[in-house]
Amino acid sequence: MQPIAQFFSLLNTPTNIVITTHQKPDGDAMGSSLGLYHFLIQLQHKVTVISPTNWADFLNWMPGVNKVINYDYNKYKCQTIIEEAAVVFCLDFNILHRTKNMEQPLLNAKCIKVLIDHHQQPQEEAFNYGISDTTKSSTCEMVYDFIVASGNAHLINLDVARSLYTGVMTDTGSFRFPSTTASVHLMVAHLKELGLEHAEIHSNIFDSALESKLRFTGFALLNRMQVFYEYNTALMFIYSEDIKKFDIKTGDTEGLVNYLLTLLGIRFGAIVIDRDEERKWSFRSKGNFDVNTFAREHFEGGGHFNAAGGRSDDSVDETKEKFRQLLPQYLQELK
Ligand code: 5GP
Ligand code: MN
Repeated sequence: MQPIAQFFSLLNTPTNIVITTHQKPDGDAMGSSLGLYHFLIQLQHKVTVISPTNWADFLNWMPGVNKVINYDYNKYKCQTIIEEAAVVFCLDFNILHRTKNMEQPLLNAKCIKVLIDHHQQPQEEAFNYGISDTTKSSTCEMVYDFIVASGNAHLINLDVARSLYTGVMTDTGSFRFPSTTASVHLMVAHLKELGLEHAEIHSNIFDSALESKLRFTGFALLNRMQVFYEYNTALMFIYSEDIKKFDIKTGDTEGLVNYLLTLLGIRFGAIVIDRDEERKWSFRSKGNFDVNTFAREHFEGGGHFNAAGGRSDDSVDETKEKFRQLLPQYLQELK
């Protein structure tokens, strides 16, 4: 993988570009994809954003989201677009299998692949150019840096600004995680100077729950939470019948795991959700407990030091029992 600066000269020749991101894109994945999209179209490129799967409804206000193609529903069309692309940007993921069913078409594609990402241990050999920086708050911040470093700061319009702000805001927990550096605030100051209305974006993302989601949150906190005080750890587990009973949609469970870390003294929060085809884990920590390594070693996953995900083929009860049995070996680290 060559440094991304070596790609800059290619930006000036209009070509076919695909932008993609990880499955079930979150605010940073969708925000970085659309931010880059609104930048690249101004350079006369023909750009298509392809999401490997569907995404949460709370992202549907975003500028350009109606042009994003869902690979799961348009496989052949997307495969043709990928085959005809000269460049594919891969945003907010470190390993191609995070694109789920798109992994093979991406591997087959002979075009230039560019990575912009902030997760640990990137699959560098899969990309021609790229930047991987785990100190960055978000891929949106990295796309902002990319635009500025390529000499195109003047092309940051309100569509770019609104898209990029979304991911910086969601990936920093609304500017509270340690990853919120001075550069993050300087970037946001620049976007504000351009006329960004940030309050509207917070409201679009966080104040759009349906009653069923809020009641489900209450149900989960009451009935599906276990606290292991001796390990400063809290666990939540969601069965597929819970999902059906409350008519829970993609994205409705996002943020649940953060409630666990609001408990006094709790440093490790984990949630497992029955997604039918697999059990999906989310891990969050505070301080020096490394959930990236934990997820890699025990649950086929990874991510960041304080936020990672994983999976299991076991039932909810089996995988949560495995989790519980792992805790004693981390007693010292979790103290
Ligand atoms: P979340 O718990 O919000 O799904 O994911 C937390 C972080 O870990 C995100 O940055 C996400 O991209 C990453 N992540 C989630 N699941 C996986 C996984 O199965 N493998 C890897 N490598 N990263 C993951
Ligand atoms: Mn991210």
